[in-house]
Amino acid sequence: MAQAEIGLIGLGVMGSNLALNIAEKGNKIAVFNRTVARTKEFYEEAGDLKGQIVPCETIEEFVAAIRPPRPIIIMIQAGAAVDQQMELLRPYLENNDIMIDAGNANFRDTMRRFDALKDSGLTFIGMGVSGGEEGARHGPSIMVGGTEASWKRVEKVLTSISAKYNDDPCVAWLGENGAGHFVKTIHNGIEYADMQMIAEIYGILRDGLKMSATEIGEVFGQWNKGRLESYLIEITEKVLAAKDPIAGGPMVDMILDKAGQKGTGKWSAIEAQNMGVPATGIEAAVAARSISSFKSEREAAEKILGLPDVPVLQVADKAAFIKDLESALLAGKIGAYAQGFAVMAAASKEYNWNLPMPTIAKIWRAGCIIRSQFLDEITSAFTKAPDAANLIVTPAFATMVKDTDAALRRVVSAAALHGLPVPALASALGYFDSYRRGRGTANIIQAQRDFFGAHGFDRLDGADSHHGPWGSGLNA
Ligand code: NAP
Repeated sequence: MAQAEIGLIGLGVMGSNLALNIAEKGNKIAVFNRTVARTKEFYEEAGDLKGQIVPCETIEEFVAAIRPPRPIIIMIQAGAAVDQQMELLRPYLENNDIMIDAGNANFRDTMRRFDALKDSGLTFIGMGVSGGEEGARHGPSIMVGGTEASWKRVEKVLTSISAKYNDDPCVAWLGENGAGHFVKTIHNGIEYADMQMIAEIYGILRDGLKMSATEIGEVFGQWNKGRLESYLIEITEKVLAAKDPIAGGPMVDMILDKAGQKGTGKWSAIEAQNMGVPATGIEAAVAARSISSFKSEREAAEKILGLPDVPVLQVADKAAFIKDLESALLAGKIGAYAQGFAVMAAASKEYNWNLPMPTIAKIWRAGCIIRSQFLDEITSAFTKAPDAANLIVTPAFATMVKDTDAALRRVVSAAALHGLPVPALASALGYFDSYRRGRGTANIIQAQRDFFGAHGFDRLDGADSHHGPWGSGLNA
């Protein structure tokens, strides 16, 4: 019997769907799961795809079933479980075999695992997979980090299973070691910001304009036909239209207003801070999820502080205001993506990855959660201006910022005046206003720092820099 082209360990939600996708695309695959009963169950449920699947009960049998050099996808719970699984697998592997961690790993763990295998003859790929269960089954966006040689070994299989955008496969080799998992992390950070800004706009429509879930769903439905067309806007329309089978009203009105925040959003914010690159949209989104989880504290605070004593939002022209909300959401999105790409650009320098920005935007156009036609515009902007310091100064995006930022300003100020929280949208406005201002206010900070310590400062006129402290310098 011909050997399998690839192996996969971990038949949970993601692993089983990915394995079926691999088999369906004509690749023979060997599978193994820690709990053997799950392997049997998976195989029994594989239907017509059984012929492409080799179910294995032991690691030894599993490794022997794969054609060397063996690519082995590990799709299990991220963290210590991956290290444990790698240790169990290692004694059975041979030179040039490739262990591929496809879970949501912290890229620092990926770097460590890659380095640990460096001189062992084995190689390691850190692979970001986006698109959830549905993406894994029918075509995810795949971000690969590892050696070029190991990428060549898996390129064909991964290309066959990836999502396609106008026939372009949404998979790419992005660089060595942690590049793939870093890019996946930032993808998720941007996803947090995207979702938070949608929630803020929903809040204005619900609490400001007092619209019903059904009416709000219709607004998102309209927007999905325009500049905001994307998977997240599409599913927002759908969730707003869904009815609660128990109470009968809109499902969304029955859902507890608490959102969890897992690793990747937080990691994006931390890595941005580590590199000194602002990612205020992502930070605001992570913080908003944290505040959302303090449900009982928020309810207690509302009793103590009350809601802000401000007028109810009333707009003279509702249609024009809703148009403003659409533009504000687009502007906010531009801010969050610009920040995410700036974080990746800084990481690319720091870790010598040479991340291909147009390619990253390209492989996010389908398969993943943030997929949208907007990413096609980012691909085009970075292709035309590969050395741009920031997405918002590329010609196409500069025009988009100029076209939408007045609406963002009106929406953020209306929300602030009426006590409606819009931390992520406001962060985008603050980012634009700070980034576009040639003369900022850090001169006063430098003067203060110099006053209380011996920091010194550079002069605007280029004359000799002052070497503090204030007392012995400026005052002298
Ligand atoms: P899941 O359904 O909970 O399945 C977990 C799998 O991990 C099971 O096969 C389990 O085996 C195995 N496992 C757990 N601990 C293990 C250990 N110590 N040694 C060996 N195997 C172990 O998880 P999932 O949702 O598929 O997620 C898998 C990975 O994909 C995670 O890193 C997750 O963050 C990432 N991811 C998930 C999504 C998503 O939408 N779910 C999207 C993108 C990425 P047993 O059957 O023996 O328990």
